[in-house]
Amino acid sequence: MNESRPDDDEQRWVHAGTATSPGIGIGEAYVVGRRRVAVPHTYIEREEVEAEQIRFHEALVATRTQIEAIKAKLPHGEHRQILKAQQMMLRDPDLIQRTETLVRDDLRCAEWAVATAIDELQATLDQAETEYFRERSSDIGFLGRRLLQTLVGETLGEISPPEGSIVVAHDLSPADTAQLHRVRVEGIVTEVGGRTSHSAIMARSLQIPAVVGIEGVTNIAQTGDTVIVDGVHGRVIVRPEEEELEGHEGERRRYDAFEEKIQKDRAFKAVTQDGLHVITRANLAMSEDMELAIRHGAEGIGLYRSEYMFMNRDSLPSEEEHYRTAKAVLRKMAPYPVVFRTFDLGSDKKSPLLMARGPEVNPAMGLRSLRLALREREMFLAQLRGLLRAGVHGPLRIMLPLVSSVRELNDGLEAIEEARDQLIRDEMPQSDDIRVGVMVETPAAALIADLLAERVDFLSIGTNDLIQYTLAIDRENEEVGYLYEPLHPAITRLIKRVAEAGAARDVPVSLCGEMAADPRYTWVLAGLGIQELSMNPSAIAVVKDIIRASSSEDMRQLAERVLAARSAVEAEAVVYETMHARFPEHLEHGAGAGVPSSVPEDD
Ligand code: PEP
Ligand code: MG
Repeated sequence: MNESRPDDDEQRWVHAGTATSPGIGIGEAYVVGRRRVAVPHTYIEREEVEAEQIRFHEALVATRTQIEAIKAKLPHGEHRQILKAQQMMLRDPDLIQRTETLVRDDLRCAEWAVATAIDELQATLDQAETEYFRERSSDIGFLGRRLLQTLVGETLGEISPPEGSIVVAHDLSPADTAQLHRVRVEGIVTEVGGRTSHSAIMARSLQIPAVVGIEGVTNIAQTGDTVIVDGVHGRVIVRPEEEELEGHEGERRRYDAFEEKIQKDRAFKAVTQDGLHVITRANLAMSEDMELAIRHGAEGIGLYRSEYMFMNRDSLPSEEEHYRTAKAVLRKMAPYPVVFRTFDLGSDKKSPLLMARGPEVNPAMGLRSLRLALREREMFLAQLRGLLRAGVHGPLRIMLPLVSSVRELNDGLEAIEEARDQLIRDEMPQSDDIRVGVMVETPAAALIADLLAERVDFLSIGTNDLIQYTLAIDRENEEVGYLYEPLHPAITRLIKRVAEAGAARDVPVSLCGEMAADPRYTWVLAGLGIQELSMNPSAIAVVKDIIRASSSEDMRQLAERVLAARSAVEAEAVVYETMHARFPEHLEHGAGAGVPSSVPEDD
């Protein structure tokens, strides 16, 4: 939607992109130009090869040190983790060996060799099937630029947006985003990026409205231009008209006032008008984010994605590390429980530690999750021992991912018993009051939920995978993204079946897929009998507020209407209409919070 000629720098310009962090931001543009390094293309003499290799290795060390300095200024959390990943990339054998080869065999100077190696790595990542890996291509690009700047001896210009401005960039590097921790900006617009890009992750955690995918915006907007970032509908307006500006200022006041209202009560429990308590917990990927969960009013951690402990590193986490991490999380969250999912590696969650196994033809159905853990038994037992030991420090729950049969579940439970026996043998203290649960992520698990419930203390539905496997839709493949339908009758029927299987055996059923974070689905899920919702921390306040304003009968009735629908489209129409009529503002505040944003615009 480009409503004006891009070469006319006087005119208003509107463009639609992807909302990745909700809210309305208005301010003066601070345009970050594309910063390119002039790379010399010089051939060296054979005698110079060794000196050139040394120069390259010194630049690697210097770049790592620069990143360390940026990292040290940041609070704990996702950004530090992103910078840590960049430091790891500087050890990437593909980058190092390829550069060395280009210097040694082609006699290229170090800058030219690095630039070529980076281009090649980016080209490979650009071809990747998953969005996550394609976005890592921009990480490599940033890193390459930093490395080249170090080699050519350029000083690195840091961005310095004024307070209250709108940052407009092609993309933001992790070092740029680090700056935004210090200065409060009003909004972020980038030309590239998706939901997992740095700018998106950072904007969500700092609660700055953001829209990505606005092609050409760095050529259109000039520093000082007024820009509106509509992070609810995914729109950017450069040089708006007076009336439009006033309208959006009103929108922003309304949005901010509502946000303040729902945030005020976030620490209180979510109990419906007729007394049904729906437990809301947080999904976390690393212990540094616990603060976020507490701040947003989580009643514990419903999904701790422990596999992140295995990523961006070159050695396996030890039993001691598992113990210390779990202990810290439990202590911090007490008296609330923490559900640790045993490592769910493989498929979309790659670890360099497992790359040695070689590529799989069909990794989503390959050796992943619990199957992999059972094969890599020592790695699994180390994690289980660490967790069982940590259980003395708080209410710990262990959850087994991607189970498709009772046999697999039994094998997982047997491994837990083996870890327990080993600790007894070694006279190590451990908790004997640990609850064990299983994820329901495959149609098979949902259909035998009654049999699984007989063996465990809780069930947790992982809709991200349940939808993928039930509808045969690769969750990472944008080509089939339109078929990824959470309200498909097959999905709602399976959720209902699991909820009933749990209720019949007094086994609590939670749901920890992205569906839980979408306020449009709160009624349907609670109405289908889900007692606990676990989600991205930033979605908790909105979901809690909806529950408090509702009755369990309203929710049950909507769930019944959804179950009667003959297609996902029909079910969506019923749900969106009901929820939009009842909670228009809540739905706006859910946009971009880790769920596809499709808040209809009121014309
Ligand atoms: C899920 O599949 O819904 C889930 C919560 O697990 P993940 O997204 O980590 O695969
Ligand atoms: Mg899953």
